[in-house]
Amino acid sequence: MLCGIMKQCASFKPSPQVQFFFLLFSLLLSCAQIEPSKTEFVFGTVCTITLYDQGKDSVYRDVFARLREIENYMSVNISASDVSRINAAAGIEPIQVREDVFTVIERALFYAQLTDGAFDPTVQPLVSLWGFSDDKPHVPSQPEIREVLPLINAQNVEINRQTRAVFLKERGMALDLGGIAKGYAADEAAQVIKNAGINRAIIDLGGDIVILGEPKDKRPWRVGIQNPNSNPGIFFGVLEITAKDGQQSVVTSGAYERFFEEDGIRYHHIFSPFSGEPIINDLLSVTVIAPIAMDADALSTAVFVMGYEKGKQLIDSLPGTEAIFVFNNKSVRTTGSVDFTITDNSYHLIHN
Ligand code: ADP
Ligand code: MG
Repeated sequence: MLCGIMKQCASFKPSPQVQFFFLLFSLLLSCAQIEPSKTEFVFGTVCTITLYDQGKDSVYRDVFARLREIENYMSVNISASDVSRINAAAGIEPIQVREDVFTVIERALFYAQLTDGAFDPTVQPLVSLWGFSDDKPHVPSQPEIREVLPLINAQNVEINRQTRAVFLKERGMALDLGGIAKGYAADEAAQVIKNAGINRAIIDLGGDIVILGEPKDKRPWRVGIQNPNSNPGIFFGVLEITAKDGQQSVVTSGAYERFFEEDGIRYHHIFSPFSGEPIINDLLSVTVIAPIAMDADALSTAVFVMGYEKGKQLIDSLPGTEAIFVFNNKSVRTTGSVDFTITDNSYHLIHN
């Protein structure tokens, strides 16, 4: 399922007021001049595109059309999607998919391998068992969890690049690209914009952000990072970045995005493929900065699952990739050369 769709059954639903603020503060703090932007609801989340200089209605239309196309191909909630067709044929036969769907699945499997299964696109049976896909989230029993756990195994996905075929080897297996597809969509939106000859833009798909070009004043872009303890659009700090080679992405995954409460305990939508339960560690959110949003998206989910120590090791091993970690106790750590300033002083930066 596409990640944003998860938000529809979250205990949080943005009110028109919150959406307004979201728009108003829409991540760009450096731009003194208000540029026109367009917001639509795609992937179950608020998507805002801001085109600078030559922004045209036709380009906005093309970008949102591409986003909806990706949702239609990759959502598990749409029965005709390529992903739903793969899932329906689990244990039966391989399914040929579109080039873009194949690309995302291939990359998801790459990250499953790279993270020793912390990131796992076959997590769908868990998402479904916990009721995140049908608007009735609840805590399942341990036997129920034990029953679906053997189905969560990216190694049982067979792909063939020549035929673009995808096969889930076991009956009951199912893909969910929610941890990566929105990042891919943000990269594709950037491509549509570049193809239209527009050099400066911001794409914000509910926290999956791509910046293109540089601000007018040639200073770094200033990107607000979501306060994991607050409503969407409320930031706790500002990241300054430049678009190396014209493009840079910033993607945040957190326990706050989508959750429900039962008996006073909060359960969120990022699962440990090993325990079958929502991840519990000392992290509130992980932001990954990388040239490609699809990579940053998969990595932010993966690092959230892996926890700080292992997650930091992974990020440090990847060139051009940085991260911001926010902990339960409101401390914040960054990797390498991240230029991050805290604006909400209930948080504090720990220098490495
Ligand atoms: P968001 O959708 O809030 O932007 P993420 O990118 O972190 O957040 O993706 C979370 C989604 O990824 C979940 O809704 C689910 O569909 C999927 N998911 C959950 N746990 C995992 C996991 N361990 N590996 C890969 N995908 C996961
Ligand atoms: Mg992700």
